[in-house]
This record gives sequence, structure tokens and C-alpha cells, in this order.
Amino acid sequence: MVMGDIVTGCDVLVVGGGPGGYTAAIRASQLGKDVILVDKYDPGGTCVYRGCIPSKTLIHAANFIYDIKNPGNTGIKGSVEFDIKKIQQWKYEVIKKLRDGIGNLCRKYGVQVVKGEAYFESSSRARITSHDGTSSTFEFENAIIATGSHPHEFPGFPFDGKLIINSNEALGLMKVPEELVILGAGYISIELGTMFAKFGTKVKIVQRSSRILSQFDKELVELVSQKMKTLGIEIYYNYTPQKLSTENNKAVITIVDNKGKETQLKADRILAAVGVKPNIGNLGLENTRIELDDKGFIKVDEKRKTNDPKIFAVGDVAGPPFITNKAFREGKVAAEVIAGSLSAFDNRAIPLTIFSDPEIATVGLDEESAKKSGFEIKTGKFPFRASGSALIMDRTEGFVKVVAKTDGEILGIHIVGANASLLISEASHSIEMAAFLEDLAGTIHPHPTLPEALAEAAEAALGKVINI
Ligand SMILES: Cc1cc2nc3c(=O)[nH]c(=O)nc-3n(C[C@H](O)[C@H](O)[C@H](O)COP(=O)(O)OP(=O)(O)OC[C@H]3O[C@@H](n4cnc5c(N)ncnc54)[C@H](O)[C@@H]3O)c2cc1C
Repeated sequence: MVMGDIVTGCDVLVVGGGPGGYTAAIRASQLGKDVILVDKYDPGGTCVYRGCIPSKTLIHAANFIYDIKNPGNTGIKGSVEFDIKKIQQWKYEVIKKLRDGIGNLCRKYGVQVVKGEAYFESSSRARITSHDGTSSTFEFENAIIATGSHPHEFPGFPFDGKLIINSNEALGLMKVPEELVILGAGYISIELGTMFAKFGTKVKIVQRSSRILSQFDKELVELVSQKMKTLGIEIYYNYTPQKLSTENNKAVITIVDNKGKETQLKADRILAAVGVKPNIGNLGLENTRIELDDKGFIKVDEKRKTNDPKIFAVGDVAGPPFITNKAFREGKVAAEVIAGSLSAFDNRAIPLTIFSDPEIATVGLDEESAKKSGFEIKTGKFPFRASGSALIMDRTEGFVKVVAKTDGEILGIHIVGANASLLISEASHSIEMAAFLEDLAGTIHPHPTLPEALAEAAEAALGKVINI
């Protein structure tokens, strides 16, 4: 502490104002705690400024353009023009509304927002340094760390903000690149690759293994791979990026396959989307009793307590999956535990969604992981080509697959197809409620709607499907 410093006391200091942090701060305040939320920027975090919101806004625009150009069998003819700068402007408006909304919520619930960078001096005190270099000290009863994560560089290809860019820079481009090479084939690569292809970019994806979206059921991914091919996206499987040069202002990237064969790819930009690292630097964690795992993420228990009894951690900094819905839930759990409730992160499953084309959404165990976990299972599948709603939309690709124990308890639901991101919520709810196939099959679904496919898949698993 600097001599003469005024020390401000609070019940809960939340470090990081992304989905994990601002949710924790508001919930703690709702439960009567005196809360200070500190962030280097306005609250909102990666999700609002660099992640979910900007990417899904641009993906929505790209899908809109694509759908107008490709009306399928509907008899509609259309042509479309777009201005990427105006689309970006609209994206900023969406972000601004959410930023202002979160600021208003913090004010409404009495959360004091402090702009600056937090550094833990001990397990009960943190120093906040603002952008102008001034600093202040805060003493807390409890702290919640929600500092998130940042994009990982591909070894040997450091980000330079020009040729080699991260997802945030890709989402801010004011000119659609002619040619884009993407390193990695996780969900960000597939979402942004598909989006740029729909904006008119020639996209090439370099993947070190023989699969894209390797953590997802192959059957779901197959449909996405096929669509990417029709969009002209080239995927270089089993290739490793080796070196980079430039030619006429373009990047020339040399990639090498497993047998040593070299290929050169040209691009205006190279997007590295190869995972994330936790934001733990310059946080002073060494002055606390917090322990990290071997990848640098903060170790937490089911109440999101760290090894330091006063400090909790939530969101990306506390490990995978790196998604906002997990951060939201963890933030609430940590705040509720601090306020004395019996909350725990004891959810039965976390839904994962990829805004690819078609969308993938999955929750719970797939066939392979259920068998590996020792369950005897039965499955049921319902294709969208048999759904009236999918036929109306002319989006008949895809299916819903239900995995259940032989006694009928649902273990997982996996969807590929239009609006899978919307359909997964009912699946998630079913698993959270420990539903059986009969529960899902016996729930009356409005007709004609896509969610009927969930009930049909459950009936298929029960061996009594009507519509196929
Ligand atoms: C391109 C992209 C697309 C994505 N799409 C989706 C999606 O569709 N759905 C989904 O669920 N997830 C998506 N994600 C992931 C999602 O954005 C993150 O999982 C989520 O934002 C994590 O929330 P968080 O609260 O843990 O951290 P963050 O949102 O990263 O927030 C951390 C905050 O901590 C602040 N901070 C860091 N260090 C300090 C410090 N020392 N002092 C003060 N403040 C500090 C940062 O400024 C930041 O505001 C996407 C991510 C990316 C990159």
C-alpha cells in the first residue's frame, strides 16, 4: 500500500466484467452484498466486444445475404448488394446497446463499477490502476476472479494485426478479404470461415489433424463439412503451417503434410484460431493461495472456490468449456455461495452450439462417450427431411439424435440442422430435469415446428416413431 492511500472496503470485489464477472456482481448485489466490479474497459467482456455478439451479428448478416442468393426450391428469385462498412456499423450499434444495457443493470442493482487493472496484493487486498496511472486500494471479504481468456498464437506465426490476425481483428475488418487462410479447425474457425465464404472470400482452412470440430460427433460434423465444400471452402487436413513470406502485399504461407509434401497458399490475411489462454498475467496471483492447473487455468471446486478460501474464479479463466453460458452460471453460483446459499455448479450438462451451416448443437453424452462411461444405451434419430416445418423452410438437412440409458433416462441430445441453436434449449432442460424418453415423447409440441423433431427422436428411441 502506498502511504497516504485511502483504502476502500467492500464485501465482494469482482475482477473482470465479462459474462462471468458482471453476472456474479449483480447477483451478489441482489443478495445484499456491497459489490465493486473492476474491469480494464466497460463491462461486457470478450462476449460483447470480441466474441459471441460481434461474431453472431456478422454471421446473421452473412446468412441473410446467402439465403437471398440461394432461395432453394421456394420459387423466389433475389439479388443482393451489401456494404461491409454498414454491416460493421450495425454490429457496433448492437454492441453499444448491450454495453449500455449492462452498465444500466450495474447501476440499477447498486454495483459500483471501477475502470482499471486489478492486481492482488494479498488474499484480502487488491490494487486497481486506472488508464491514467492513478491507483487505489480495495479491501474485500471475498473476491471473484473472472478475467477470461485471450486468443492463443500459432507457434512461429505471431499476431501482427495486419497479415496474421486473431478472431477479434477478423471480426473488425472493414474490407472483405479476397483470400483468407485460417489456422485451426475448432468452432471459431468453422463459424468465421463459413461467414467469410458467404461474404465472398475464398477461404482455406489448415488443420493439423484429419478432422474438423474434433470434439463433436462425426455424424453431425459430416453435414457441416459437406456444406463448407459447396461454399468453396478448402480444408487442408493433416497439414502444418511452416513458414510465411510476402508477395505483392499478400501473405504466402507454406504448409507441410504428414509426408513432407509442401503446398503454398496465398492470402490477404491469415486468421489464427487455435484456442485460448487464461488471463492470469499481472494479476498478482502469487500473492494469494490460488493454484493453477497445468495449462494455467485457476483450479476451482464445484462452488467455484479456489484454493484460497476468500477467492472464487468463474468463466474462461477457470477452465473449459470456454463459452458464455458456462460463465453466466458459474458467476451466479460463486455469488450465491458467497451470500451463504447452498448453490453449486452441479449442472448435469452444458449445451454447446456452433453457428455453422447447418448449425450444430449438442448437450450431454454422445453415443461414444456414453459407451465409454459404461452405460448400456439406446438411441433414436429423427431426420429433418420428415419434419413438416423443415420442409416449409426448405431446410431439410440434418437430424436430431437422442442417446438414452436402456431404462429410458436421457443422457444426451445432438442436433445438426437449421436452428439447432434454438432447439437445444429444450434438450438441455430435459437433461437438467433428468427426463426420460417418455417425458420428451409425451410432451405436446406445437405443429408444424422444428422442436417436434425432439419428441419424434425420443419416440424413435422407444421404437414407436410415427412420422418415419
Ligand atoms: C470469436 C469468438 C466467438 C465466440 N462465440 C461464442 C458464442 O457464440 N457463444 C458462447 O457461449 N461463447 C462464445 N465465445 C466465448 C465467450 O466469449 C467467452 O467464453 C466468454 O466471454 C467468457 O466470459 P468471461 O466472463 O470468463 O471472460 P471475458 O468475457 O473474457 O471477460 C473478462 C474480462 O476481464 C477483464 N480483465 C482481464 N484482466 C483484468 C485485470 N487484471 N483487471 C481488470 N479486468 C481484467 C477483461 O477486460 C474482460 O472484460 C466466443 C469467443 C470468441 C473469441
